[in-house]
Amino acid sequence: GSGRADSGAGTATHCPYCALQCGMRISATAAPGGRQEISITPRDDIPANAGGLCQKGWTAGELLTNGARLTTPLVHGEPATWDDALDYIAERIRRIQAEHGPDAVAVFGGGGLTNEKAYLLGKFARVALRTSQIDYNGRFCMSSAAAASIRAFGMDRGMPFPITDLAAADAVLFAGGNVAETMPPFVRHLNAMRERGGRLIVADPRLTATAKSADLHLQLTPGTDLALALGLLHIAIADGYADEDYIAARTTGFEAVRTSLAAWWPERVERITGVPVAQMREAVRLLGTARRAMVLTGRGAEQHAKGTDTVTAFINLALALGLPGTEGSGYACVTGQGNGQGGREHGQKADQLPGYRKIDDPAARAHVAAVWGVDPEELPGPGRSAYELLDALGTPAGPKALLLFGSNPLVSAPRAGHVAERIGDLELLVVSDLVLSETAARADVVLPSTQWAEESGTMTNLEGRVLLRRRAVAPPSGVRSDLAVLSGLAGRLGHPDGFPDDPRAVFDELRRASAGGVADYSGITYERIAAETGVFWPCPAEDHPGTPRPFLDGFATPDGRARFVPVDHRPAAEDIDEDYPLYLTTGRVLAHYQSGAQTRRIGPLVQAAPEAYVELHPDLAERLGVTAGERLRVVSRRGTAEGVARVSGAIRADTVFMPFHWAGRASANQLTNAALDPTSRMPEFKVCAVRVERVA
Ligand code: SF4
Repeated sequence: GSGRADSGAGTATHCPYCALQCGMRISATAAPGGRQEISITPRDDIPANAGGLCQKGWTAGELLTNGARLTTPLVHGEPATWDDALDYIAERIRRIQAEHGPDAVAVFGGGGLTNEKAYLLGKFARVALRTSQIDYNGRFCMSSAAAASIRAFGMDRGMPFPITDLAAADAVLFAGGNVAETMPPFVRHLNAMRERGGRLIVADPRLTATAKSADLHLQLTPGTDLALALGLLHIAIADGYADEDYIAARTTGFEAVRTSLAAWWPERVERITGVPVAQMREAVRLLGTARRAMVLTGRGAEQHAKGTDTVTAFINLALALGLPGTEGSGYACVTGQGNGQGGREHGQKADQLPGYRKIDDPAARAHVAAVWGVDPEELPGPGRSAYELLDALGTPAGPKALLLFGSNPLVSAPRAGHVAERIGDLELLVVSDLVLSETAARADVVLPSTQWAEESGTMTNLEGRVLLRRRAVAPPSGVRSDLAVLSGLAGRLGHPDGFPDDPRAVFDELRRASAGGVADYSGITYERIAAETGVFWPCPAEDHPGTPRPFLDGFATPDGRARFVPVDHRPAAEDIDEDYPLYLTTGRVLAHYQSGAQTRRIGPLVQAAPEAYVELHPDLAERLGVTAGERLRVVSRRGTAEGVARVSGAIRADTVFMPFHWAGRASANQLTNAALDPTSRMPEFKVCAVRVERVA
């Protein structure tokens, strides 16, 4: 609890970016001109990265010294004092709510916020604002996998085993994940498996850096992941790989799934997915003969209007093979955002209360209301999901004000042009961020916030391991933590108590609020995290060791059994046609993170990946008369986006790819489809119909 690492120079903390939450040490030394020089070294005591970092992590120190940093609140573009800015926001909130009711003010959070911030944001919305209108950008990230895991296992802990278990597997199927670019140290675990003779199977429309290292690449048509999973399961059963003992002892519902699969014979699946039957059969053989095997999904399989059913189909496959809840095997979602796991547990989600509780469950409401000292009747019910919330902004029935923390939806939301119009109709937009992101640039009030290494807090990585981010450097004067912002606003709105700005105090309350819930943190303390290099939830008591593998003794369902759920393939929400004859799929590149608000301001990362590009197959390039390096315009029914042509045999000839890190004319999300999954409310980021034009 000294706030210092146990060994090595500098303060032990974690990377500001992705869900791997690589451990790093930070040292700050004074440099001429009053500047600080930051040096970063990887920690080897955190298993996720074990001494490795990616380019983003190595250069993260530049975020702390970046000249683009905001250090003064802005009200309508003019510098203001903190008191004036917070007074102004509180006054506008009071007036808007007096005129239109509590739900006229909405809150939008982020999957990169610490657990403490996510928790306090949810409480702030429900207690200080009394609004039901809160959701967060994690809805765009992992919500389909979360919904499918809850359906099958009764609980969503994205990866229900330590990441180091991967190395001991004999076969891994990874559907729609490109960790070689998004989180490179993850590849060490896959490589360790392959060095032992284990086999990697990757399903992806592109021969990504990850797919290149695979033993088998299933290069499916975008939007057909669900059909692929059904085909694999059909073959697994037909070829005798179903684990009948496991199915009988640990699951329910298999017969209904077996029956529903009759229609998904392999040749039909080949016609839909473009994946040869022989390849599907080989994938099933590798998984079915493995002693230990894992099925993983990433955004490629999840970000669809049928994402929940797609993940369910992959979970059905894993269950039929007898993997989940078995030592060394399982199903996992590889979460993306820094606190993608913790961000979905503490109540910044529209349908949720802390402890991963459901907001419409009377017992959950009673427990949380008691911790918050409010009447359960006063707690608002579920609100709109992220895209539905953005889509309603400024409409007659929708919110008139939006408070946004740690998110840049003008770049990261689907159908971004439409979202920009909706945001333009708000009466009040407040954005807390470290830099003037594209969304912050549109705000009535901009609040300059502290960042990762300038404040303490906990993050829960993709394994469900709760980690401590320690303050390593002093923040510049003028910035404030989001906790202090919420505390200051709550006080002005008549709640002087209950909103501490000290992360430890917030964490202690979070522990009480989560007690007895699915994501139980009550036994986790800052001291334990520091002493134990992280603690896995659920951890219901201080003498409880934490739960690295929660399903070994049974699933979190009432009968302890995992549930097979029959699902069917259906076409993408928007299919290709004469006017829009190509599929677009989007994703990330090594040098940038999410909307790029941070990484597009880091010199070496900009050098490594300076601009948006459009990847297309040589046959398609020839057909369109396109040469590598020329500017292309991609057009969908929702907008246009431009990028430089990158001609590559790594992509299907019927598909183009754009990374989504850039803004304005280069923003891939101008094109994407906001069709939503009926269960998770996940938009269909990963497939829509486009045409490609040469820019004259
Ligand atoms: Fe690790 Fe992700 Fe940071 Fe890269 S971006 S150093 S993979 S946490």
